[in-house]
Amino acid sequence: MWGGYSVKDAPLYLRPRVDPPLAGLLGDVPFLHSLVDALGSPLNVLLPEVVAENAERFRSVHRRHHLAGRVYFAHKANRSSALVRRLAACDPAAVGIDVASLEELRHAVSCGFTGDRIMATGPKDAEFLWLAARLGATVNLDSPGELEQLAGIVRAYGLGKVDVLARLSGFEDGHAAGTRLLSRRSRFGTPVGEADALWEAVERYADAVELTGVAYHLDTTALEEKARALERCVLVMDECRARGLAPRAVDVGGGFGVGYVDDAGEWERWTTALSEAVLGVRPPLTWRGHGYGLRNEGGTVRGSAALYPAHRPVAGPDYLEELLARPTPVLGRSPATLLLEHLHDLYVEPGRALVDQCGLSLARVLDVRHTGDGRPLVRLGMNAGDVSLEEHGVLVDPVLLPRGGPVTEADDEPVGVHLVGNLCLEADLITRRLVFLPRLPRAGDLLAFVNTAGYAMDFHAHRAQRQPVARTVAAGREGGSWRWCLDEDYWPVSYPQGVPS
Ligand SMILES: *Cc1c(COP(=O)(O)O)cnc(C)c1O
Repeated sequence: MWGGYSVKDAPLYLRPRVDPPLAGLLGDVPFLHSLVDALGSPLNVLLPEVVAENAERFRSVHRRHHLAGRVYFAHKANRSSALVRRLAACDPAAVGIDVASLEELRHAVSCGFTGDRIMATGPKDAEFLWLAARLGATVNLDSPGELEQLAGIVRAYGLGKVDVLARLSGFEDGHAAGTRLLSRRSRFGTPVGEADALWEAVERYADAVELTGVAYHLDTTALEEKARALERCVLVMDECRARGLAPRAVDVGGGFGVGYVDDAGEWERWTTALSEAVLGVRPPLTWRGHGYGLRNEGGTVRGSAALYPAHRPVAGPDYLEELLARPTPVLGRSPATLLLEHLHDLYVEPGRALVDQCGLSLARVLDVRHTGDGRPLVRLGMNAGDVSLEEHGVLVDPVLLPRGGPVTEADDEPVGVHLVGNLCLEADLITRRLVFLPRLPRAGDLLAFVNTAGYAMDFHAHRAQRQPVARTVAAGREGGSWRWCLDEDYWPVSYPQGVPS
């Protein structure tokens, strides 16, 4: 059907954005090979210094706007001890941690976070609430029912008053009526329209809890929605104060985002090509014609692509900057000004953005199998759970790290391949799309998936078929070479010089 077409004619790259010091690590190919030789495939490599630098970048946005407040790392993005320990060593007034389970809370404490730097978020069970209250953590309340449960625990165990934030949701109602909104309804938080019942409960349990602020976390990349929510929170804070409550912080949650793909043109070309492939005007770009949510309805592309916007001109601290600077819809002032005038603290809870450029995932090429359609299957020593970029809709190319040895000329040109995992399962695809590489990989080469520290390297890792779960190492630059240790053995005090980048 596609006679005469050669994938070699038109490589559709989605090359990753790689900044120093990660770029330097990626450039030390013999070092990375020696790590995988010693510790096996898959292998995760983390750069703890980078997470501290990222926290500092978020903090500099605070400083620019003369705002007080904290950066809370959303722990769920990565299980690493090294990252949490490195953050624990940061300025306590500037950096905290957001934990979403009893085990994350225990981990944060064991890594050096004191209770006053910890924020407990998400839905909580009694054990999680008790330990958070016992340690003096701030509880980010998911619902009025949770407040009741917490107050019961505080009273029953004679604990000190617990600082609470009220997580709000449902900002699309009320003030925003009539505007078109894109965000999905949230399972979490108290709808802002029903907040009165929450304030009444806070007043009823005044002996057990103190309302220190209001919070939101929206599952969207849209700045406009977040600006509307932020403004509404400022107005809600006024309402609370009028009732005699004394909240002082607005917590804008996470979702600042990461730019994975470096080149806007590559992203543009690839997404256009996906639509063309769905329409059938070019060969499929994916395994079995998977459309990432797009479909062909009588010659028109329908549906919306379930893809992370992999090229993002504004992400991370820059996104926070933009959120703070744009005028809000009702008051027409910038959130930064509103917060400053009210003397409110600003809390942020970045997960993905705080671990931007903090690590990579390595996999050994086990086998290259040639198929009838000219698109080789490259089998890796990892499975889809070890690098769940696809799971999160993040499309970005791995970097080929050759083992060495001569490359025959025939293999030394761009090629589209399918990357498949080590499970005996049709669905175990590392990517559902055709991945273009500068040349055909060979058994023994490594593929480096860059920037996987946020949700990709361990969020979905499992032990199916008793395949090994990736080990994780922490690395840093010392003198002219890389120094590394197992993630669980990393302590900031062993790396007092940090890592020059
Ligand atoms: C997941 C989560 C975050 C972090 O989100 P990112 O998109 O990784 O920044 C922050 N706050 C809450 C409440 C979350 O559930």
